[in-house]
Amino acid sequence: MDYTEKIDYSSLSTYMGCPRKFMFQYMMHLRPSGNSIHLVFGSCWHYGLEESYSLLKKDPKNVSAMDLTITSIKAFNKLWELDGAPLWKDEDLIFPKSPGHAANMYKQYWERFLEFDHGKVLAVEAPFAINLSHYGSHLPRYIGRIDLILKDGEGIEIIDHKTAKAIYKITPQSFENSFQTDGYLTAGRLFYNKIPKITYRMALCQKSKIDFQPITISKRASAIDHFLHDLVFYLKKIQKDITLLEEDKEKCTNRTDLLQSFHRCYGQACTAFFSQCTYFDLCRLRNNPLGWIDKAPQGFHYDEWDPDTHDEKMRNRLADAEGKE
Ligand code: SF4
Repeated sequence: MDYTEKIDYSSLSTYMGCPRKFMFQYMMHLRPSGNSIHLVFGSCWHYGLEESYSLLKKDPKNVSAMDLTITSIKAFNKLWELDGAPLWKDEDLIFPKSPGHAANMYKQYWERFLEFDHGKVLAVEAPFAINLSHYGSHLPRYIGRIDLILKDGEGIEIIDHKTAKAIYKITPQSFENSFQTDGYLTAGRLFYNKIPKITYRMALCQKSKIDFQPITISKRASAIDHFLHDLVFYLKKIQKDITLLEEDKEKCTNRTDLLQSFHRCYGQACTAFFSQCTYFDLCRLRNNPLGWIDKAPQGFHYDEWDPDTHDEKMRNRLADAEGKE
């Protein structure tokens, strides 16, 4: 993705956590080999809800909780066949992140939420782009995609679906002070001219329990100004680092050379969320990792991130698979 043109929350939050990690992941496009069941299950779960909410939006009077459950399961399985089934053949080994468990989760989801959401769906998978050019001529657009937008009386409610193993004491605060929340609220404000609220619908995916815990956040209108102010600050820093990186590519030719761009946020970021940073070993091995720009180190491959093309590719693969049936 060209970060002088656009940026999304996932890249931005990586930069805020550690600029060097951003460089590994989004400038050098290095990804660890192997697949994550959490990511695959999460995207199948999202796709199941996307298809069923599209149906609910189209035909709110005639669909039942059972219709929506069946639509969700079918969509989940369609994507799972492509991304999950070839990698994880034994469902017992991946339980509770398995298609069978997802089917039970959808059933409970729709039994619980249909009565709240019925007749309120305004948009499903709504893309947005916030133009920041009036803050500086070379700033990229801030882009994103909102899972679901519901009518909420005279206002709107933004819904974001998440799957989680557990809800911790500080989970609500982590969502409250998140650029993801503020970005969605800003987009809702700009495009619907209303101060929205956002609810994270947390689908608890545990071996012995299925539950859905909504976390709702409302903010003052001035919080949006604060977000935009901070956003511009970080985007300017990223633009500066991109320029410095081009200079580093010329000047830093030895493994021990020290880069001026994308500094390390050494310390807590390396072991955040009780796990080791994906690039921990690369960071320890060389001061200057730019030698890996053309030759990925062992255990890594190149995979360039662009949320727009990622989504388009997924839909094309699904359409191809459907054509073959
Ligand atoms: S190991 Fe630490 S310093 Fe290195 S990229 Fe990861 S978070 Fe940043």
